[in-house]
Amino acid sequence: MKIVIAASEAVPFAKTGGLADVCGALPLALEKQGQEVIIVMPGYKAAHNLKQPAVKRLKEGISISRIGKNISVYFIDNDEYFTRDGLYGEKNGDYKDNLDRFSYFCRKTLELLKELGFEADIIHCHDWQSALIPIYLKTLYAEDDFYKDTKTLFTIHNIGYQGLFPKQEFPKLGLSWNVFNMEMLEYFDKINILKGGIVFSDLINTVSETYSKEIQTRQFGFGMEGVLNKRSDYVFGIINGLDYSIWDPLTDKKIFQTYSFKNPEDKYANKEQLQRVSKLPVKKTVPLLGIVSRLAEQKGFDIVADGIDEICKLDLQLVILGTGDLKYHKILEQMVKKYPKVISLNLKFDDTLAHRIYAGSDIFLMPSKYEPCGLGQMISFKYGTAPLVFKTGGLADTVNDKNGFVFDKYSKDELIKAIKKAIKAYKDRVQWKELVLKGMKLNFSWAESAKKYIELYERAKGK
Ligand code: ADP
Repeated sequence: MKIVIAASEAVPFAKTGGLADVCGALPLALEKQGQEVIIVMPGYKAAHNLKQPAVKRLKEGISISRIGKNISVYFIDNDEYFTRDGLYGEKNGDYKDNLDRFSYFCRKTLELLKELGFEADIIHCHDWQSALIPIYLKTLYAEDDFYKDTKTLFTIHNIGYQGLFPKQEFPKLGLSWNVFNMEMLEYFDKINILKGGIVFSDLINTVSETYSKEIQTRQFGFGMEGVLNKRSDYVFGIINGLDYSIWDPLTDKKIFQTYSFKNPEDKYANKEQLQRVSKLPVKKTVPLLGIVSRLAEQKGFDIVADGIDEICKLDLQLVILGTGDLKYHKILEQMVKKYPKVISLNLKFDDTLAHRIYAGSDIFLMPSKYEPCGLGQMISFKYGTAPLVFKTGGLADTVNDKNGFVFDKYSKDELIKAIKKAIKAYKDRVQWKELVLKGMKLNFSWAESAKKYIELYERAKGK
């Protein structure tokens, strides 16, 4: 099949979150399985500054690079729109012209495919930034012969971000006002691009089975539950893979000592070093809890903040790495002052420290309120660190009582109960080893997820 991945970010060219990991790794796995793939993304400053792989000018407005064996990555260039420090915004918030920027990206992507003569079977779009592609295909390009056999799959990575814009901006899209109605692009008198993507794509998926069901409910749908319910036969869930060339304690150069499930005892050297660099007492028997996360309510920091004082009184140590809401920064900073021998706080983005926390912790705390897929729990499994999670989305699909700790009522009390249970389990060395080994042997490879995507592409083609 000929497949286009159209996305607003992809590793190694530009990244703000998990979306970039998916859009960088999935094409490689698809290529290994014999598919012909290209990527199209905006030509941000970050991409043009990259040395390896280099990005070269192909022609006016288009640059090119290559990943994998033979995957062309095309960049839609526009100095005014994309030569900026951020992808979607900077300190003061989102860029005001995001609708101009990403509608431009979508229009130019469709023009580029025609120029290249790339007759795609599937254009795989991701999140609202590329959702105008299926919308344009079924409207502006509806009569275009070149696209008559092209189908679209729309992947929702996080339904909390929908691309909402004032109605006054609608003329910028070049679409007829006929599509500005409650069944299509309108949402409470605003333009909702994600909603349009849901309506106009041939198939839709999210990044885990459970999340694909959750977003069809009021609790998790962020207002999109109605439109998704109407298309529920077209909504699927495929869990993301994990890139084991980066996340494997046997080959990881960033951690203090490498190890595998064959010698999980070597993991202890990492714990000891982590305690040292974190300025915590070096103690083998005290369970060390790790957090690597955006400090946001979505990630469970409302209940963590509520319970942190109580948590710090338990027999444990806590190493936190993350940035985010200033209110959580402040609460945690106060706790460090109060419990300096219990908490180590690192308010920054630090990839090396993240690796060291996954390797050195006994328990990984990830009590997300909602979690489309989640990478942290998958990484923890591989590093022999038992995840402790709230039962939601991708966390519910990957963590259970046999390989970690799960609580199913979202509250501070239930979180603390689960932590106490984990501390108790940690003291039973034989059982703990068994639990940890179960996680270490799990395999969330991209090869498996790519197979499922190919099945979805085939299904879309059959539509
Ligand atoms: P999301 O994409 O919603 O933030 P995921 O769990 O899917 O959450 O992925 C987050 C990724 O970012 C993980 O690989 C995690 O280790 C990493 N990460 C998050 N915060 C930091 C940080 N402060 N420093 C280093 N890595 C981080």
